[in-house]
Amino acid sequence: MKRLAILGSTGSIGVNTLEIVGRFREEFEILALAAGKNLSLLHEQIKAFKPRLVSVLDQECARALHKALEGIDVEVVYGEEGLTRVATFPGVDLMVSAVVGSIGILPLLAAIEAGTDVALANKESIVTAGEIIMKKAHEKGVAILPIDSEHSAIFQALGGKMRGDGVKRIILTASGGPFYTLPAEQLKQVSPQEALAHPVWDMGPKISVDSATMMNKGLEVIEAHWFFQVPSERIEVLIHPQGVVHSLVEYVDSSMIAQLGVPDMRIPISYALSYPKRLLAGIPSLNLVELNHLTFDHPDFAKFPCLKLAYQALETGGTLPAVLNAANEVAVEAFLGGSLKFTEISLLVKRVMEEHEVTSAHTIEDILMADDRAKEKAKDILEGGVLC
Ligand code: NDP
Repeated sequence: MKRLAILGSTGSIGVNTLEIVGRFREEFEILALAAGKNLSLLHEQIKAFKPRLVSVLDQECARALHKALEGIDVEVVYGEEGLTRVATFPGVDLMVSAVVGSIGILPLLAAIEAGTDVALANKESIVTAGEIIMKKAHEKGVAILPIDSEHSAIFQALGGKMRGDGVKRIILTASGGPFYTLPAEQLKQVSPQEALAHPVWDMGPKISVDSATMMNKGLEVIEAHWFFQVPSERIEVLIHPQGVVHSLVEYVDSSMIAQLGVPDMRIPISYALSYPKRLLAGIPSLNLVELNHLTFDHPDFAKFPCLKLAYQALETGGTLPAVLNAANEVAVEAFLGGSLKFTEISLLVKRVMEEHEVTSAHTIEDILMADDRAKEKAKDILEGGVLC
């Protein structure tokens, strides 16, 4: 029996995680859950999984939830402190981090510090503070298991190891998002609704927009670098619109190993939950005959500049990946709120990166300060209204 805590239980990854837990009650027990403000769904989850501790966005949400729970025996906490309490709840064997954004950094570090293994979906934390997180995990002997489908694929292609020894290159596949074939001049007009309509995956709003700009793939390049200790020049991105080859590893002898499957996040989630075992997860098999063909192409860096910016941030290092991520978080929120055009997302990120003086990022304070300042800078530029 593995005892779990989940950050972001009401989101797309959180709900899929609980769906698996619900089908394998004899394998998993939920001790603590954290969500933001979707209190009705959290309430349902509390009734179904009976956690001992839950955390919500703020005090107002905590009061409302407490009132609605009427005598159900569960402690309710809130805010960043609440997230950390959930992440470090005593007795937890595996902490699933599926919140969105850099808010996931401190609870993740706290869980590692407490010696708890982690199943990681929250890529923004590893992009922002990868060096510190991986070093701390190594020191503490803590396993960080990838949930992102590409990194789960690489993990599996490496035979369940987190080091890219003997690897010539890692190939991250990308569906290309909803606008891959759209002429570049039409990108300026695309709406948030169009950006949210991903052709292959059903995901939360932030990662859906990141997929449309291809920033998601850029974040994944940085994530792969930290997870598998492979330099950026040996991490390649290929467009694969069918979305069934989730990524590949090529070894020094030119042997390539890929992981395939239907595009369903329950596959990588169940592997991270049950590793090193596999669960009979009830997910349909990939029909190779029906699939008929697989295509691969180089990405268009000019049409999707965010991908280039992510490589640049990784190659420069220091505080720049944190700045890239922070500016992107602000840009995506502004796009979803209607105050920024789709093509301005990369312009805003680029501008914040250009105006940032890169420093070394040896401590978490260096990182959090860079994250904070970059978010402030991005908001100032947005208020100024001129992006070029
Ligand atoms: P969602 O937007 O669907 O869910 C985000 C979750 O985080 C929700 O439970 C939300 O709560 C919670 N949350 C947001 N802000 C806060 C906060 N300040 N405090 C506490 N909880 C908060 O996102 P996804 O599930 O799509 O993605 C989660 C992470 O996983 C992201 O980092 C993403 O990049 C990564 N990922 C997602 C994939 C997917 O298929 N969705 C695939 C691979 C990686 P509430 O809704 O209650 O407000």
